[in-house]
Amino acid sequence: MANQSNRHYKERLREIQALKGYSSGESVKKAASRSKARISEISKLNSNENLFVPKEKLISLLIDVIEEIDPRMYPQEEEINVRMALSRYLATSPESILLGNGSDPLISFITQLFSEKGDSILSISPTFGIYRVLAELRGTKYFGISLNDDFSLDIERILDAVAPKTRILFLCSPNNPTANQFKIQDIKALIEGFQGLIVIDEAYAEFADYSTIPLIREYENLVVIRTFSKAFGLAGLRFGYAISNPDFVVTLSKKAQLPFSVSTLVLELVPKLLRNIGVFEEALQSLKKERSKLIKRLNNINGIKAFDSKTNFVLFNTEKKSDEISRSLLDQGLLIRKLGKILKMNGCLRTTVGPPEINNRLLYALDKIFSE
Ligand code: PMP
Repeated sequence: MANQSNRHYKERLREIQALKGYSSGESVKKAASRSKARISEISKLNSNENLFVPKEKLISLLIDVIEEIDPRMYPQEEEINVRMALSRYLATSPESILLGNGSDPLISFITQLFSEKGDSILSISPTFGIYRVLAELRGTKYFGISLNDDFSLDIERILDAVAPKTRILFLCSPNNPTANQFKIQDIKALIEGFQGLIVIDEAYAEFADYSTIPLIREYENLVVIRTFSKAFGLAGLRFGYAISNPDFVVTLSKKAQLPFSVSTLVLELVPKLLRNIGVFEEALQSLKKERSKLIKRLNNINGIKAFDSKTNFVLFNTEKKSDEISRSLLDQGLLIRKLGKILKMNGCLRTTVGPPEINNRLLYALDKIFSE
């Protein structure tokens, strides 16, 4: 008996070992080890972090929080305050907001609850890699339906791919890595044409034109996921939330979520950030201005085609090999994401929109590479 269960654990471990897994952006230390640049010389532009949010302001708010909290105690009423503060920010009810330790853990939580081995999960391609990883971990089949060449949704092909056991449709909008936001009519067409759960990942919504959050009142099969990692520059502290109808949210938070999933530190910090919303709005405006400049200047380089962006990163295709470009940039202290083939384009790369001085370095380096 003991032996048998032991064997099962080993089999499962081998199954997990065979999965591709998710590789998040390479660390600066690791990148430095394969580069001519030193750690201190490398600018990290490979994970869509937000360097426009003033670090001193975040630190000063954090210090205020540290002085107020008692880390020996579990969180008590803080979650309610966070839901209230978020409900004002989002113009929705506090009962429709589920809190999490980042948006990835919420995406994982929902995947585990609403799909099982043998089911299938649908999304688009290219898109954020976590959906596939979670689907495979769950033992479900994953289908990523190619976007049209202009990065729009192929509604017909997506709905044609729906099978009786398709449980979840993940839509990342604005989409990582194409950086475009899908048309609301197309999103509505998908929600109306699909009976399962639609999860819209709005990690980058603050950088875009609109949010699908108001749709949760119309459609009970819709969940929107948001994060503080991008617009609020809080990637290191981990905070995300899901918005859906109160029945969905209250059921999950009372019956399925583990207690204390968000730390007191973060729970106390979030309402403070929202009370200082002007700081983040200002950072957002600077980022957007810098984003248009960056796209324009990338497109001025012969051999580069940069795409419009509704996020804090820019996708661009080049006539050269993307691994050679990323290698050469890294040697000059610029760590960006090499993507390679996307749809019909072979030399794609993705860079975070950095502050002006970093973007200038990037543009200077690319200019040099493409004039050689
Ligand atoms: N969704 C998308 C589309 C992302 O690009 C990312 C981060 N790169 C995440 C979710 C994860 O965000 P978080 O830090 O909240 O887990």
